[in-house]
Amino acid sequence: MNSPDAKPSKKQQMETVRVLLPLPLGNGYDYLVPPDLSIPQGSFVMVPLGRKEGVIGVVWGEGSGTVDPRKLKAITSVLDLAPLDEITRRFVTWVAGYTLTSAGSILKMVLGGQLRPLKEKDKVPDTLIEYKRLIRAADAAQLDPRLRGDDEGREEDDEGREEDNTQTLLSKYGNYIDTLAPTLSAEQDSAAAALTSAVKDNAFSVTLLDGVTGSGKTEVYGEALAQCFKDGQQALLLLPEIAMTAALFLRLEARFGLAPTLWHSGLTEKQRRLNWHAIKQGKARFILGARSALFLPYADLGLIVVDEEHEGAYKQEEGVIYHGRDMAVVRANLGAIPIVLASATPSLETLHNVQQGKYRHLILRRRFGEASMPTIKIVDLRHEKMPTQSFISDPLLQALQSALENGQQAMLFLNRRGYAPLTLCRACGLRLQCPSCTSWMIEHKRTGRLHCHQCGYSMTIPKACPACGAEDKFAACGPGIERIAEEIAARLPDARTAIMASDTIADAKAAQAMVKQMDDHSIDLLIGTQIMAKGYHFPRLTTVGVIDADLGLAGGDPRAAERTFQLLQQVAGRSGRAEDAGTVYLQTTNPDHPVMQALIKGDRDAFMQAEMRERKNYHLPPFGRLATITIAGADKQQVIDVARLIASVAPQTMNMRILGPAPAPFAILRGKHRYRLMVQTASRGVALSSALGAWIAPLSLPRTIKVQVDIDPYSFL
Ligand code: ADP
Ligand code: ZN
Repeated sequence: MNSPDAKPSKKQQMETVRVLLPLPLGNGYDYLVPPDLSIPQGSFVMVPLGRKEGVIGVVWGEGSGTVDPRKLKAITSVLDLAPLDEITRRFVTWVAGYTLTSAGSILKMVLGGQLRPLKEKDKVPDTLIEYKRLIRAADAAQLDPRLRGDDEGREEDDEGREEDNTQTLLSKYGNYIDTLAPTLSAEQDSAAAALTSAVKDNAFSVTLLDGVTGSGKTEVYGEALAQCFKDGQQALLLLPEIAMTAALFLRLEARFGLAPTLWHSGLTEKQRRLNWHAIKQGKARFILGARSALFLPYADLGLIVVDEEHEGAYKQEEGVIYHGRDMAVVRANLGAIPIVLASATPSLETLHNVQQGKYRHLILRRRFGEASMPTIKIVDLRHEKMPTQSFISDPLLQALQSALENGQQAMLFLNRRGYAPLTLCRACGLRLQCPSCTSWMIEHKRTGRLHCHQCGYSMTIPKACPACGAEDKFAACGPGIERIAEEIAARLPDARTAIMASDTIADAKAAQAMVKQMDDHSIDLLIGTQIMAKGYHFPRLTTVGVIDADLGLAGGDPRAAERTFQLLQQVAGRSGRAEDAGTVYLQTTNPDHPVMQALIKGDRDAFMQAEMRERKNYHLPPFGRLATITIAGADKQQVIDVARLIASVAPQTMNMRILGPAPAPFAILRGKHRYRLMVQTASRGVALSSALGAWIAPLSLPRTIKVQVDIDPYSFL
């Protein structure tokens, strides 16, 4: 651009660019470009901000020209880092517009929270080098001589040779991963062929890989991943939970002969730094992550796979509110690459897209190998005589007993952490509630305290009732998983039992340890919440008991039936995945409910079609669209006033209906009162984000009030 010693003309002096900062601050600020610098779009730059000397941002475009250049500050320096690629930049802008969040908040996710420049000693992990080691180990004799010996050093001091090596290496690697491929069944093979050809097409496409639990979806999309690696491109596999990455890690490593590069909230600072740079430089080939991995600046992303696409855990509910699966489809579209959505219980949204012809559909109808689908049995709790404080029916207990006697494993499912969901005073009926939330205090034996599951507050169980003063009258009501474990200890004292919930399996390590214990059979009986309903594969597990199959059906959530069906089908899907047949016991007081009937009959499609009709009749997603606006603040009256004000200036259009304001289901959360407006559109065609943006952005609201918009809400809390 300019040579440093040329006398800058007036115009050059005034050149400005917009710099986006990874902060929730609007869409960037103008900065002057020092005349001796050439700064392409996407460059990482250091700029002064307020009193801070150095903040890292990304050059986002031309200056807005709205501020007098004489008042602007100049860019301090350009970082030694390749500019952020255009696809990622477009993705940031798109997601910001859709979720009504500042682009800076999205950029923050791109930077993995904050930019961590490499340190002097850092060595960015290179999976190509990893390939080499593996290839050497596999067939040293047939290798190109250049690849033998101390090739790491040679590679670094010979640029031209490195190019050569990369090509040779990729072809060798291609042959090598093929030797690791499983032999597919005919059904798997044709699905895999369709997926690999989508990868070869190198264009945007969405494919639903719809296969019953245990049909080998991992093996099938594994073929697509392998094709992507052979093409020398990066692939991203998204999983709904960190615990699952741990369970799948070794299996994937063995399949591809390379360790996946991880991305999730459980990484150390150093891992984050190294993995981020490895992904950006293209040295990482296979990225295995939670939803936040979607935003990373991939060097050359060629494929995205979203496993368990129906999972609610893909929805991020705090900070930037977005649905990981939906944004993954957007990312694939912007990058013009294929995306695979895998599930045994696809979401209604995805099935609708299939019916509309927007998504391709691949079906795996049978479990792999000798395994058959489990038998579902109903335990009608209306006719079972169970002693009070007992929650496991006799038929279920007998089934557990005989499974364990036969050297098999079993699992009990109840979606409630802790010992009891409610603690009440037997003298006056007072229920202990969190002081800062509309939520009951939940007893946990593990800690010996009462906990609020909303805000994390905990307290000891009071001796005297704060309402009536009666002493030692508090009683636990209803079961949580700890109470089920207690009942098992009393009735099946020899069973080696483990509890699996988000508080006992807090990180990837704990999950891996649990998987190992199941694998080497040092656990007989697993008692857990929904976190164990996901993709796990325990070959010895045959008997599954659902303590309260009706639990998810209460309440006004329009997705309650769909979600309960998916959850129970997934739980059931953990059983009988190898030779021994599986049996699932559903304890219910409502055996005629369509969800239970669909599970017994194994008729997912009819159930989903009925749900689909229902949604269509009520203009619910995926037919109409929903958004919620939650208004929160410490002063209840102020919250109500603001909620009413927002409602009063709602756009008056025929195709948008505004419901509320009404107290949100958790009317008080962390000491903040919450009111909610629901926006519903009769069709999908309405541009909900821009309508909401035009409605809310211009309002000047008190700073003590927080307004949060959730486009396509999943939880109705
Ligand atoms: P899903 O994800 O569909 O529930 P998985 O991919 O976990 O099923 O497969 C279930 C089990 O069957 C796994 O242990 C997997 O390794 C095995 N399996 C599936 N397909 C094959 C295959 N073609 N060859 C060998 N093992 C297979
Ligand atoms: Zn609380």
